[in-house]
Amino acid sequence: MTEQQLLGPHQIRDLADRLGIRPTKTLGQNFVIDPNTIRRIIAAANIGPDETVVEIGPGLGSLTLGILDAAKDMVAVEIDPPLAQELPTTIAAMRPGSESRIDVVLSDAMKVTELPRRPSALVANLPYNVAVPVLLHMFATFPSIEHALVMVQDEVADRLSAQPGSKIYGVPSVKANWFAEVSKAGVIGTNVFWPAPKIKSGLVSFKRRKELLSDLPREEVFAIVDAAFAQRRKTLRAALASWAGSAARAGAVLEAAGIDPQERGEKLDIHDYIKIAQAAWQVPAEGFSVSTGGEQ
Ligand code: SAM
Repeated sequence: MTEQQLLGPHQIRDLADRLGIRPTKTLGQNFVIDPNTIRRIIAAANIGPDETVVEIGPGLGSLTLGILDAAKDMVAVEIDPPLAQELPTTIAAMRPGSESRIDVVLSDAMKVTELPRRPSALVANLPYNVAVPVLLHMFATFPSIEHALVMVQDEVADRLSAQPGSKIYGVPSVKANWFAEVSKAGVIGTNVFWPAPKIKSGLVSFKRRKELLSDLPREEVFAIVDAAFAQRRKTLRAALASWAGSAARAGAVLEAAGIDPQERGEKLDIHDYIKIAQAAWQVPAEGFSVSTGGEQ
């Protein structure tokens, strides 16, 4: 198969000049100008020829062309009107005949609840300022997404794939693990972007769990995760006090879950948080509603 042309630095600059586009920080616009990086992302994304891919933030289309070459079809969700409007023209010029294999949706990815195609994979160079919420929103809203490969700031990549107990383990790590098995898939330097960001980027790969980890509503479990990490230096008994209604009830719930109340939230994995949510149903709020304030 002959290799198809991807967008290089000159083409990206020409496109941006023609459209009068100046990349904005607010929208996290750092465009990939290096075909080899696109090939690397596509290789790591493991896209099958029968797959439908959703890309968030196609920008000028660098990654979009690579996805189109690998997938059956795709949807691209872009918030910036001039970029969304131009994308079909770029596709028609660079991949004539492929226009019907892509739908471009002009929207904020955080607000998307329906897509014109049913995606089996998510592949994106995510806008850095909203990378984690967009990722979690997409996994929550589109259960058909079986796997994902995203590029984010390298420290966010490390945080997403961190293990319990490490300093960078936090809310993104636990919540991403609710949906998927997460692993880091590489580091990307700064000079493959225009404009070049100050920090390196990282690739993260996600394999959606075959079955839900729990029948409990996700929000119930996530509320505990948020509470535990809002005061990550405190013991769980103290950090979960307002969530539970009192420190005493938090202690009782943790004990019912088989978790040491003196432990810190950063030591627990998603399974432990689920155990706490389950235990909360067994420890009634009555009798604990008035906090004694003291240790018991
Ligand atoms: N995929 C392109 C590439 O690799 O060259 C551009 C990636 S750039 C890091 C992020 C893209 O996401 C920009 O095109 C930006 O306009 C878009 N974007 C930013 N916030 C968005 C949002 N909330 N929803 C959808 N797209 C967004």
